[in-house]
Amino acid sequence: MHQIHNFINGEFLPPKSDQYLDNVNPSTGIVHGQIPDSSYEDVQEAVTAAEASFKQWKLSSIEERATYLHAIAQGIKSKFDDFALAESQDQGKPLWLAKKMDIDRSIANFEFYASAINHYENNASSHKPGVLNYSSRRPLGIAGLITPWNLPLYLLTWKIAPALAMGNTVICKPSEVTPLTAYMLAKVIAEVGLPPGVCNFVFGSGEKVGQAIVEHPKVPLISFTGSTASGRSIAEHAAPHFKKLSLELGGKNPSLIFASADLDKVIPETIRSSFLNQGEICLCTSRIFVEKSLYDKFVEGFCEKVKEIKTGNPLDETNFLGAIASEEHLNKIEHYVKIAQDEGGNILVGGHRSTQSAPWAKGYFFEPTVITGLDASSRVMQDEIFGPVVTISSFESEHEACQLANSVPYGLAATIWTSQLEQAHRVSEAMESGLVWVNTWLNRDLKTPFGGSKQSGIGREGGRYSLEFYSEAKNTCIKF
Ligand code: NDP
Repeated sequence: MHQIHNFINGEFLPPKSDQYLDNVNPSTGIVHGQIPDSSYEDVQEAVTAAEASFKQWKLSSIEERATYLHAIAQGIKSKFDDFALAESQDQGKPLWLAKKMDIDRSIANFEFYASAINHYENNASSHKPGVLNYSSRRPLGIAGLITPWNLPLYLLTWKIAPALAMGNTVICKPSEVTPLTAYMLAKVIAEVGLPPGVCNFVFGSGEKVGQAIVEHPKVPLISFTGSTASGRSIAEHAAPHFKKLSLELGGKNPSLIFASADLDKVIPETIRSSFLNQGEICLCTSRIFVEKSLYDKFVEGFCEKVKEIKTGNPLDETNFLGAIASEEHLNKIEHYVKIAQDEGGNILVGGHRSTQSAPWAKGYFFEPTVITGLDASSRVMQDEIFGPVVTISSFESEHEACQLANSVPYGLAATIWTSQLEQAHRVSEAMESGLVWVNTWLNRDLKTPFGGSKQSGIGREGGRYSLEFYSEAKNTCIKF
């Protein structure tokens, strides 16, 4: 059993309330730790610390900040296996995936932004003789960073690294469902000697801690990744303070498979894009649309492969799916499968909790599930389920494929499979989404803009987009 503490002003502190929340291992259903049930008072203490440390941190050199970011990356690297095991036990994901994706990319986030700030250039221009304009970027102050449970350390470090790189101080609020690797990161940050108050962690619920950060008048910037419903509430509460906001929200991503696609490549990649991390990645393709001439062949080949997927013990390297992150989320997934049946859907594969033997018998496992026969307007094809559940439908023309893909309120990511170059460009152009992948999926270059359209969010992060989000441009005009 671990007991997590807040990390404020360089010190590990219990919550002011002295109340704790249970932290459950989703693969066993057993409480494996306790996390602070923090409240406004803890957030206020973190704000006081972050405000005081900002005075010095904003004056630090780029070299100094980059050195700290590299040291944090090294600190995670030196405990790589511990971080991966903790992420797997806290989130439910397979250990192999925690190693390959979460922890590896968390290290990359710090290294990338340590390098990126050294390469960021400001502009200067002269619109008439004797006049020079130059722009510079200033940090905003305290950044409030609120993150979800699906990629806990990865998404948190994606925000911390650029925020610190640009000279802000930060207050992090990791999901109460998966706090463990954030706590381990706080320990690394303490070990590398980052000045007290520059990076603070307040653990607890979104309702109390998240809300207190969002409403605090001394936190001018909020970067939030999570559901569209929470994003809407955050936007409402942040608006009266005119806060700078980045909202990375939900998705209901289409995969469009055209007749010219090579099924030998499409099927394994679509298995990955549908079920990686138990389908709990905002970029997962949950609606698969296949051109009619290829439909039967795809459904047969895809279902055959889905039946071979192994689900269970996250420490067993042969399992492709681990546990669902929480019991509440497992219930939600099950509920949506029931809705699919009520809506007339055919469950071709899965549809049930996955039964496991001890010690995993009480874990939250769900079978990878494939559903056909639903209308595009059905709830299961409109709402984000965020689990190992996909629907397959057919289309007859490129126009219909695009209409179906865009027929949801979300617009995060679309995947297109075609061997026709012009079709790839045309369909990509038609997608109402922030990201499009053609003949690939989750191929991430950290320099590129990341974010959603419609109800999938506002703002872009990644590369210079993050450096610019976590800072404000200032122009100076000199006549000489
Ligand atoms: P939630 O919106 O429930 O929670 C996200 C974070 O916000 C948690 O730390 C939560 O705290 C906190 N929170 C919740 N309500 C509020 C509030 N009113 N004010 C401030 N903070 C709040 O999302 P989930 O954790 O369920 O994550 C899954 C969602 O995240 C999915 O919709 C998924 O699509 C989305 N997501 C989007 C990504 C993107 O890049 N677009 C990437 C990854 C996920 P707590 O949990 O402690 O209550």
